[in-house]
Amino acid sequence: MNSVARHRRYQVGLLGAGIQYSSSPYLHNTEGRALGLDYSQQLLDLDLSPDGSAGFAAVLDRIEREGYAGTNVTFPVKQQIIPLLHELSPEAQVLHAVNTVVFRDGRRFGYNTDWWGFAESFTRGLPGVPLQRVALIGAGGAGAAVAYAILQLGASELRIHDVDATRAAALAARMQSAFPQRKVTACANLAAALQQADGLIHATPMGMAKVPGMAVPEQLLHVGLWVADVVYVPLETELLRIARRLGCRTLDGSGMAIYQAAKAIELFTGVTPDAERMRAGFISKLRTVAKPGTAAAQALAQAAT
Ligand code: NAD
Repeated sequence: MNSVARHRRYQVGLLGAGIQYSSSPYLHNTEGRALGLDYSQQLLDLDLSPDGSAGFAAVLDRIEREGYAGTNVTFPVKQQIIPLLHELSPEAQVLHAVNTVVFRDGRRFGYNTDWWGFAESFTRGLPGVPLQRVALIGAGGAGAAVAYAILQLGASELRIHDVDATRAAALAARMQSAFPQRKVTACANLAAALQQADGLIHATPMGMAKVPGMAVPEQLLHVGLWVADVVYVPLETELLRIARRLGCRTLDGSGMAIYQAAKAIELFTGVTPDAERMRAGFISKLRTVAKPGTAAAQALAQAAT
């Protein structure tokens, strides 16, 4: 580690609404300490600010004045914050969403590390799986990030399904124009999206502890299909449990959360975190702290939105 990083104080934020139970400060602060940095992530909860979510610009101004290194950004300001930034990474431009803002030399740089978190998790967790045809269910913020990631990883064809057909069509059009050599389509029918698919990525809230169930009927799953979920509370969603039982290769959503945080720490500090150490700590926290029915489990369930 360079001596600047060792001696500097890194104060960073998490800017958003309803974030009191977020697991982000745990991920950031535990790893910051393990790296030997003077590093701390503070919640900047817009629900507690006098102007509510509308007050995000004032909060951004304040923390920049106070010398923060930057801030993570979450719901509901990932898009709204863009006009307040000087530069956007190419990925943030395509996704039109920013989850990390770095303050540097009087300028504000916006990045999106969500897509990178999924790509990293996918590469490590499902190495070598076929990417000829991939079905994606859920075209919201997480869906956009994973669509971008899977196309970056080389998917030839991506079919996107969402109960909101307009959202699916808009995301498909955006991704098609970002990846003109691939085939990206919106599919109103989930069964059609999954026809002859090599893999399925699930990016709706279904399966979360507070939204139980699964968005994909069991009869559409089959051995040979790989299945990736972005939901990570619980770690094993109903979708993943059934897919595993059928013999599918599976990936849970924890890696996306961990690796997006690792990349953000690197952007704030220039120091590369030990992602495997972060993963081990986070999984053990999810497994041991979140016993069903406990207050901690409820807190984690709320945090994982
Ligand atoms: P969002 O509200 O922006 O999008 C969800 C989309 O799913 C919407 O477009 C909605 O119409 C669609 N949808 C809902 N139910 C559906 C169904 N049964 N069939 C088809 N489409 C359906 O939410 P988001 O920000 O994209 O987050 C989605 C989930 O992803 C969250 O609930 C969270 O669990 C997870 N997430 C995980 C990570 C991670 O790091 N692992 C990061 C972000 C979000």
